[in-house]
Amino acid sequence: MFNRRKFIQSSAFGSFGLLLGKVASASPETVTIKGKPVVISTWDAGLAANKAAWEVLGKGGRALDAVEKGVMVTEASKNCCVGLGANPDRDGFVTLDACIMDEFSNCGSVAFLERIKHPIAVARRVMEKTPHVMLVGSGAQQFAVIEGFPLEEQKLSSEAQINYDNWLKESHYKSPAINVENKQGHGPFAPHKLDNGEWNHDTIGMVAMDTNGNLSGSCTTSGAGFKMRGRLGDSPIIGAGLFVDNEVGACTATGQGEDVIRVAGSHSVVELMRQGLSPEAACKKVIERIVKIKKEKAKDIQVAFLALNKKGQVGAYAIHQGFSFAIKNGTREELVKAKFVMP
Ligand code: ASP
Repeated sequence: MFNRRKFIQSSAFGSFGLLLGKVASASPETVTIKGKPVVISTWDAGLAANKAAWEVLGKGGRALDAVEKGVMVTEASKNCCVGLGANPDRDGFVTLDACIMDEFSNCGSVAFLERIKHPIAVARRVMEKTPHVMLVGSGAQQFAVIEGFPLEEQKLSSEAQINYDNWLKESHYKSPAINVENKQGHGPFAPHKLDNGEWNHDTIGMVAMDTNGNLSGSCTTSGAGFKMRGRLGDSPIIGAGLFVDNEVGACTATGQGEDVIRVAGSHSVVELMRQGLSPEAACKKVIERIVKIKKEKAKDIQVAFLALNKKGQVGAYAIHQGFSFAIKNGTREELVKAKFVMP
C-alpha cells in the first residue's frame, strides 16, 4: 500500500510533469471541414473510436449514439489506457470517470466507478433513467449493476501491474521534466506506447455532429495514473471535460484535469465560440488563460481542447506540442497535430 507520508513529502501536485510525443505526421494545421456528419476525438485512439462512431453517423444515426459507441471501443481496448486495463490509483485500484451530453443539454456522468467496463454507457443511463446528472463511487456501481452491467474482476492488467510495481518503488507524483520529443514519459499524464506503435493517453473525448446538424459529446478516462484515491479530474465534469450547446458547438478536454476544472474549460471554449470565435481561436484563448494562471508551472503541464462548431468547423489547441486528434467525415479520416502555445 502507498505510504501517505511519503506521498505528502514527495508530491508536488502543481508541478506534475508529463511527456507528450508527436503522433501525427502532418504539421499542426487549421482544419476546415465541409458538410456533416463529422466526428472528432482526442489522441491516436480516436481513429478507431471514430470508425465505430461513423457506423452510426454514416447511416444517418444520432450523434449521441455515435459518441457513446465510439468511445466504447477505447474503453474495451485491453491495450489502452482508458477503461479497466488502465493504470490504477496509488492504492492499486482502477477508478473510471465518464460523461455524456446531447443536443437537448441532457447530460449524465459517473465518477470514481470501479469494476465496470463501460462507464460511458452507465453515464448515458444516468442521463436517461435518473433525475440526476452525476453518480459517484459505490452508488454509481450499484446503479450500474441494477442496470445490468456486469461487475468485472478486480484485477490489474499485466501492463498496469508492471507500471504500478515500478511506480511503488518511488511512490511519488513527480515525473521528469516535460520532453515532448522523445515521448519517454511515465508521469501521471504521460502518453503510453502500444504494441501497434500508437501513442495513447488516459482519456478519450469525442464530439460529433450528425446529418441533422445535432451535436453530442462523450468523455471517458481512468484519470491520472497513480492518483490519490478518490481524485476526480475534469473528464466526468460537465463544463470541464465536456460541454455541448446545440446552438453553438461542443468541446472536450484532455490533460491535467485540475487545470481544466479551474477555468471551466470546455464550457469556456463553447462560450467563446458563442461570441463568434472559431473553434481553434476559442481553444487557444482558454489554453492561454491556463498558461497565464499557471505562470512558470505551465511548462510542466499539458492541457488540450478540441472543439466543433455548429457550422462543422473543427479546432484544437494545446499548451505543448504533442497533442493530436482524429477526425472523420465523408471525405477525410486522419490524425491531425494540434497547434500549441509553448514550444
Ligand atoms: N483529463 C484527465 C484527468 O485529469 C486525464 C487525461 O486527459 O489524461 O483525469
